Amino acid sequence: MMKQKITDLFKEKFGSVGEMFASAGRINLIGEHTDYNGGYVFPGAIDKGLMAMIRPDGSNTVKAYSMDYDQFAEFGLEEEDKPEQQWACYIFGVCREIIKRGGKIGGFETVFAGDVPLGAGLSSSAALESTFAFALNELFGCGLDKFELARVGQSTEHNYCGVKCGIMDQFASCFGRKDCLIRLNCKTMEYKYFPFNPKGYKLVLIDSCVKHELASSAYNKRRESCENATAAIRRNHPEVECLSDAKRLWLDEVREEIPEEDFLRAEYVIGEVQRVLDVCDALERGDYETVGEMMYQTHFGLSKLYEVSCEELDFLNRLARKCDVTGSRVMGGGFGGCTINLVKEELYDAFIGEAVKKFTEKFGHAPKIYDVVISDGARKL
Ligand code: ADP
Ligand code: MG
Repeated sequence: MMKQKITDLFKEKFGSVGEMFASAGRINLIGEHTDYNGGYVFPGAIDKGLMAMIRPDGSNTVKAYSMDYDQFAEFGLEEEDKPEQQWACYIFGVCREIIKRGGKIGGFETVFAGDVPLGAGLSSSAALESTFAFALNELFGCGLDKFELARVGQSTEHNYCGVKCGIMDQFASCFGRKDCLIRLNCKTMEYKYFPFNPKGYKLVLIDSCVKHELASSAYNKRRESCENATAAIRRNHPEVECLSDAKRLWLDEVREEIPEEDFLRAEYVIGEVQRVLDVCDALERGDYETVGEMMYQTHFGLSKLYEVSCEELDFLNRLARKCDVTGSRVMGGGFGGCTINLVKEELYDAFIGEAVKKFTEKFGHAPKIYDVVISDGARKL
């Protein structure tokens, strides 16, 4: 469908066809606020993504058509050529970051479209970056490895889009593989694939469609608490570089030395690092009930210890419990956005029906529902 539309429009705009590439948005099953503590995250690419037809044309300008915005942009490849449209800055940034890494790329024509909801926490921006990073690397023979392509996307956000993000989103959309989640150690960058193919269950996101303003100042405060706790632990255990290195017992040793708030924050992080490992063990046994229980524990921690949930998300989480959903938790930084839910197929309709009804009654607007299946990341079609 999307492929055909893109092909047709490419022909219409540019007179022939190019090659087709795609990438994906992502979810993170568990491992929240662990990245900046050197812990694990556990993302996977999803069956919502972005597709682009691209053809190098021997020029030194990019001619790009966004189907979703119904807009055209043309720009050069030098630093001063940054386009005006925000969506085009992502493509421009990817080009610049590849060039900075020694890639020799030239002009090209492209038409692209996607189905990752924008700004919903599924990382439509990473889908866009990794599609173009992967494609341009192939088409122009730049020889960058997948990790470097993820870095290209991350640096694009930092340097051309004003978003100081970590590496998880771009990593997931570059490395994503069907029916697999990827455990990434944010300290060493080691990663490992685990099977995720929950037969008889569905993975569904419920988007509260709220974003509370506290998010960025609270985020900085959480980071500070983690650093305080780490520094206190390090006085007894000098080998502790980041909070994820600390044992639970070591945190207890310093309880009296740090503000209770910092203790609770650290308690959450240390617990969360362990939960990721427990979920990985459970997945190797195909034990999705344990996976789900860990998701609830994470939600509890994010809500009561780390305090980054909000009324809407706690409401959705309680509702999930009531409807016998296997696992449910807030996904992402918090203060709004989605819950991610693992639910038995036979309970799905009742849960979603109830969630939409009750949420709308209470908050005056409907949540959005996104079914997701773990799928391949960046690739040539
Ligand atoms: P998200 O959480 O979805 O990544 P962001 O704000 O980081 O939200 O990125 C969304 C931005 O990425 C959009 O405003 C747009 O500029 C760009 N983008 C993502 N998907 C598309 C698309 N399909 N077409 C055009 N631009 C897109
Ligand atoms: Mg984004």
